[in-house]
Amino acid sequence: MTMLVHLNGKLIPAKEALISVFDHGFLYGDGVYETMRVYDGVTFMLDEHLNRLYRSALMIGLIIPVEVNSLKNYIYDTLIANSLKEAFVRLTVSRGYGPIGIDPDLCHSPTIVIIAQEMRDYPKSFYERGISLIISEIRRNPREALNPQIKSLNFLNNILAKIEAKKKGSYDAIMLNVYGMVTESTISNIFFYKENVLCTPSPDCGILEGITRGIIIEIALRDGLIVKEGEFTKEDLYSADEVFITNTTLEVMPVSRIDNKEYPVGNITRLLHKAYKEEVKAYVAKVKAEGPSIWGYE
Ligand code: PLP
Repeated sequence: MTMLVHLNGKLIPAKEALISVFDHGFLYGDGVYETMRVYDGVTFMLDEHLNRLYRSALMIGLIIPVEVNSLKNYIYDTLIANSLKEAFVRLTVSRGYGPIGIDPDLCHSPTIVIIAQEMRDYPKSFYERGISLIISEIRRNPREALNPQIKSLNFLNNILAKIEAKKKGSYDAIMLNVYGMVTESTISNIFFYKENVLCTPSPDCGILEGITRGIIIEIALRDGLIVKEGEFTKEDLYSADEVFITNTTLEVMPVSRIDNKEYPVGNITRLLHKAYKEEVKAYVAKVKAEGPSIWGYE
């Protein structure tokens, strides 16, 4: 079946979904995006993702020329057109076409692209045994330079850390901020459990405030865990009992190694992942009960 992509308001075959070489998303990484996960036809935390998209856009002075409800319809149209129920959705809004030059005013019409693809699950072994991380030499962009709260197309900071991790034989990297405090991984937030406290870097450290991160904090508090959002050093991570990372597509992924330090896949990690899956189920059931929806289609 030909994959259809939503480009500037129209569904078109993937091969024909082309944008200009003058698009400032391509030329300068000037734009924002979201990645969402679809469970049984329901886009999980859709409102939260779209809120963050508009917020990111605002932070770079990009006005998305489409209302939130239209974006929702575009997303569901794309899912239906591709008969997708277990999927991920990548929604990109770039500054759009314009002559060469970084001035955003050169561009008059943002480019909006929605790609929906079948969800390819991460290998089971990753969840059973955990993944290995390094502490990267690359520091996370300071908030004062390029605020990590902006989910932007400008991803080189994270890509450099990922390259280093792969070179060193690890799956991914954790970045410290310029003050040496832990921030996040290249595409995920980080948590660790130590002396009965669930710890995660606070937004002040310079992180993207992940939607999954928010849910995990809520679940943990509801389950009576002590949660500490704060400033942590790599030594705090090395001395943790359990470590895991979170994002929309990987959910809760255990970490079995950071540099030379090894960790078991612990009970708190398993418990939180299970509770997260329950949260997803409840959300899907609620949305289906409320409609309007696409889940009527088979
Ligand atoms: N941090 C970074 C740098 C990310 O790119 C992402 C997601 O892609 C996250 C954290 C996790 O965000 P979310 O849980 O909203 O997917």
